[in-house]
Amino acid sequence: MIHKIINAMIVDGTGDKPFLGGLEIKEGKISRVFRGPSRDTGEDVIDAKGMVLCPGFIDIHRHHDLAAYYDPSFGEIEIAQGITTAVAGNCGLAPFPNSDRTKQAQFDYIEPCLGPVPDEHPVHLLSEYMDLLEKKALPINIAFLVGAGACATAAMGYEARPFTQEERQQAVSYVCDAMDHGALGMSFGIMYLPECYLAHEDLVALASACARYGGVITCHIRGEGDSVVDSVSEIIGICKEAGASLNISHFKATGLRNWGILIEQAIEKIDKAREEGQNVTCDVYPYAGGATTAMTIVPPSVIEGEPVSFLGTPEGIKKLKEEIYLPQPGWDNMVESIGWERIMIGSVTKEKNRKYAGKNIAECAAEEHMDPCEWFGKLAAEEEGKVGIILFSVSEKDVERIIKLPYTAIISDSLYGGGDNPHPRLYGAFPKMIREYVQEKRLLSLEEAICKMTSLPAKRIGLSDRGVIDVGYAADINIFDPEKIRDKATFTDSRQLSEGIAYTLIGGQIAAKDSRLALSGRYGQLLRKKK
Ligand SMILES: [Zn+2]
Repeated sequence: MIHKIINAMIVDGTGDKPFLGGLEIKEGKISRVFRGPSRDTGEDVIDAKGMVLCPGFIDIHRHHDLAAYYDPSFGEIEIAQGITTAVAGNCGLAPFPNSDRTKQAQFDYIEPCLGPVPDEHPVHLLSEYMDLLEKKALPINIAFLVGAGACATAAMGYEARPFTQEERQQAVSYVCDAMDHGALGMSFGIMYLPECYLAHEDLVALASACARYGGVITCHIRGEGDSVVDSVSEIIGICKEAGASLNISHFKATGLRNWGILIEQAIEKIDKAREEGQNVTCDVYPYAGGATTAMTIVPPSVIEGEPVSFLGTPEGIKKLKEEIYLPQPGWDNMVESIGWERIMIGSVTKEKNRKYAGKNIAECAAEEHMDPCEWFGKLAAEEEGKVGIILFSVSEKDVERIIKLPYTAIISDSLYGGGDNPHPRLYGAFPKMIREYVQEKRLLSLEEAICKMTSLPAKRIGLSDRGVIDVGYAADINIFDPEKIRDKATFTDSRQLSEGIAYTLIGGQIAAKDSRLALSGRYGQLLRKKK
């Protein structure tokens, strides 16, 4: 247990100017903060001379729902980039709650984002799962949102229709169970099945249930391309009706023709809602490429009512060719808006397809002397839809514009679907912010960037005792030289740990030294919403 840190340049997380000083720790919390140099020595004192001290980074948007429990190496890539608290249950996608009747379809659907669910997986409810995790020695702090999509799937499966009265009640009861047991809020993934088919009243009912507990709603909106402005309006309207506060997840405008234009219109919608007193914010990952499952690029009209294997049949390929190059109102057609060459294969499940990871679909198809629709349909069928993809769909200028908004938190949106070539944000989102946007581009000051990775997300998600260096706050702390912290993961070589953080403390204990997990470093906790 560390008792004192001295001679640090303290960036306290609030966005205030740094100052030279130190702090003391007692029972896992910061018990004193002081200014000026110090000459203390001792085994339980860290001399942080020449280094910055700031709160541990808080990633409110990761998809480690399953990894946190099932992956023994969980924590390594997170702690290497200074993440001390991570929130799961995002984009409506989650393994919990689930019901026996529909869980296999649910587990298959989420696998590219969250990884496989082991056969012996024991629980149905998120509340039960949180209890399991609470008993585990966790490498970092973990909290949960309850996924609206999971609640909907557990209540009715993947039906292309709104809820019946009964199903709606059942889905709402799942939300309440999770909120009762300390979920921080609820996530929508209106782009995904089955949420995209729910009625407006269904979505309002789910949001209202969360709002009754004072939980935040986060939302992966219906469309992030041509329909981004309408989609932002839709969720603002739903949350206004429900009386819920809203954080728009991984805010962006995809599709070349929308860059610089629709993003401004969408920002106007958010600003207007804020001016009218609604609590609306957003978050962003600092990359111009996103990642999701390959099934999201298949037009619903092609696959509706058919199994995934249909995509590999001559009829399925013919239908793909007919539909995939046309704009589809109300649905983001990525192939039409960015092209096959901007869609890279990230992960696959079959050994023989591993050679495609890290290559774009146009390249893969050309290599096999096939039409891209034919190649993609065949791959999707073979892999039963379990293909992770990376989409170079966002403009760097838009990313910078969103980062600069005063109400934007930095996130990673990390997926844990496995594969050889995951999105580099899994390994490097937080150091990248400092290396690229503070040190290289000078887009914002170090204290502004750190605020967006600590106090701002903590406050937004309802973690009231984290994200600030002040008396009474948890002693989750990073100490580093801003010139040395760096992400090493790239789009073509992404499995590279970040480097350059001298110490990471969780609850006052040294969880990592030189960006590597301490051997006994399991000081994280399951965090629940405070009542
Ligand atoms: Zn999402």
